[in-house]
Amino acid sequence: MSSSNVESSTIYDAVVVGGGITGLTTALLLQEAGKKVVIAEAHTLGFGSTSGTSAHINTFADTTFTEAESAFGAKGAQLFADAIAEGLGLIKGYINRYGIACDYETKPGFLYAENDDEAKQLEEIYHGAVKVGVAVNYTDEVPTPVPFKKALIWDGQAQFHPINYLHGLQKAFVAAGGVIRENTIITTIETNSGIHSAGDIRARAVIYATHMPPNLNLFNFECAPYRSYVIAVKLKSGKYPNALIYDCQEPYHYVRSHVVDGERLLLVGGLDHKTGHEDPAKAFAGLENYIRKYYNVSSIKYQWSSQYYVPVDGLPYIGQMPMAKQGIYCATGYNGNGMMLGSISGKILSDAVLGLENEYADLFRPSRVKPIDSFSELVKENADVAYHFIADRFGIHESDSLKRLKPGTGKVVEVDGKKIAAYRDDAGTIHALSPVCTHAGCVVGWNNEEKSWDCPCHGARFDIDGKVLTGPATRSLAKIENTNPQH
Ligand SMILES: Cc1cc2nc3c(=O)[nH]c(=O)nc-3n(C[C@H](O)[C@H](O)[C@H](O)COP(=O)(O)OP(=O)(O)OC[C@H]3O[C@@H](n4cnc5c(N)ncnc54)[C@H](O)[C@@H]3O)c2cc1C
Repeated sequence: MSSSNVESSTIYDAVVVGGGITGLTTALLLQEAGKKVVIAEAHTLGFGSTSGTSAHINTFADTTFTEAESAFGAKGAQLFADAIAEGLGLIKGYINRYGIACDYETKPGFLYAENDDEAKQLEEIYHGAVKVGVAVNYTDEVPTPVPFKKALIWDGQAQFHPINYLHGLQKAFVAAGGVIRENTIITTIETNSGIHSAGDIRARAVIYATHMPPNLNLFNFECAPYRSYVIAVKLKSGKYPNALIYDCQEPYHYVRSHVVDGERLLLVGGLDHKTGHEDPAKAFAGLENYIRKYYNVSSIKYQWSSQYYVPVDGLPYIGQMPMAKQGIYCATGYNGNGMMLGSISGKILSDAVLGLENEYADLFRPSRVKPIDSFSELVKENADVAYHFIADRFGIHESDSLKRLKPGTGKVVEVDGKKIAAYRDDAGTIHALSPVCTHAGCVVGWNNEEKSWDCPCHGARFDIDGKVLTGPATRSLAKIENTNPQH
C-alpha cells in the first residue's frame, strides 16, 4: 500500500512508532480526529506479533478477574473487564465502519479443567467473571476429544484474520491522510521546546506502539518476554470444532479452526516459554505430539512462533512513559490478549494526545511501576558492559568449534578465549557477530527454528547478520570481521 512521504518542514501532531494493532488503531483514531499522524515502522506494517497472533478475541483475559481484583480492587477488576469489552467493540466497530474483510466470526469459548486443582482454578475464574458481569456458565459439553472434569462456556468470543484487519485499518488511515514510513527504526527521541524528533520526523507527541518500548527502560524489569507457538493442520476427518477451546495446563494449549485459502485448518497453539530459555524445536515437537495424540492429522500446513510480554502485576502499561519527556507515550504488557488490549490502547493513547479524559487511564498508568532504586545504576552498568565488549573487536580464525558448525546452524562458540555468535550459511560462510545483546549486555542464544539470535534477558532478537528483528534493542549486533570462511 502506498502512502505519501514525510514532510521534513511539517511538525506532525503525533509520530506512532510501530505498525501493529496498537500503532494502527492509535494512528487511525488520531487521524480521524483531524490530527496529522505519521507511522514509523522498523520493518513493514504487521511485522511484529500482530502477524504471529492466533487472533482470539475474548471477553476474558490471561490475568483472571479474580487476580485483577486481588491486585487492583473490585473497581480495578471491573474497569479491566470493561476495557477488554471496549477493545473488542472497537475491533467490531472498525470492521463494520470500513467493511474490512477479515473473516470475523463470533464463536463460543470453552475453558476446561482436567484435574481437581484446575477445577478449583476454574471455579475462581467463574466467580471473578460473574462479579464483573462477563457472560460465563458451566457446561458439560465441550467440542474436544480431551477428557475433562469441569468446563466453562463463554459467550460472544470471536476470531479474525489479523493481517487482513490491519490492512483495513491501514487503508482507512491512508485514506484519511495519514503517512506511513516503513523500514524506519526509531532509535532515540530528541526533545526541544516540546517538539520531539524521531530521526527526521518532528511531532508534538510520540507513541511507542512497539509492543515493548525500545532501549533500556523500566519495562525491561516489569515485563517478561515469552515465545508462543502455533501449528496449523489439516484433519483426516474433515470435522473441525466451531469454537475457541482452551485447557488450564501450565503451559497451556488452545485450539480453534480457520479457513485459509478455501481450506479449513485446525490451529493449535501454546507451549509458551520465556524467550531464549528453552529450545523452540522442542516446543514445536511438543505441540505436534499433543495434536497427534488427540486428532487424526492428515498434514501439517503451517507453523510459526511469535512474542508477547507478561506484566509483573497482571495489567498492561498504557500511557505517558515513565522517566521520559512529557508527550512520549507507550503501551506494553498485554500478555496473550493484545487484540483487545492493543485496540483499547489506541483509544487511551489517542485520548491522551487529544487531551481527553479516559476512564481506563489511571488503572493502566505506566507510572504505577515504582522505579527500583538502583535502576539508573543498573542501566549505566549494563550499557557499559555492552559498550566495552563491542568496542573490543577482535579477529578470529577457524577453530575446532567453528569447524563443527553445520550449514544452516548457529551457536555461541569460544574462539581464542572470546565468545562469538557464529552462523554457518548453506554456502559454508560463517556470519560472525558479537553475542552481546546491544540492549543490556546479555549473551544471545541461537534459535534454530527461526534462524535468529534471541536474548534471554529482555527478549531482543536479531537476524543472522545482526539486524534487529524484535526490540527492545535498536542497534544491530556488532559484526566480527576477519573471520576466515574456509573450512
Ligand atoms: C503466538 C501468539 C499468539 C497470540 N494470540 C493472541 C490471541 O489469540 N488473542 C490476543 O488478543 N492476543 C494474542 N497474542 C498477543 C498479541 O499478538 C500481541 O499482544 C499484539 O499483537 C501486540 O500488538 P502491538 O501492535 O502492540 O505489537 P506488534 O504487533 O509487535 O507491533 C509492534 C511493531 O513495532 C515495530 N517496532 C519495534 N521497535 C521499533 C522501533 N524502534 N522503531 C520502529 N518500529 C519498531 C515492530 O517491527 C512491530 O511491527 C498472541 C501472541 C503470540 C506471540
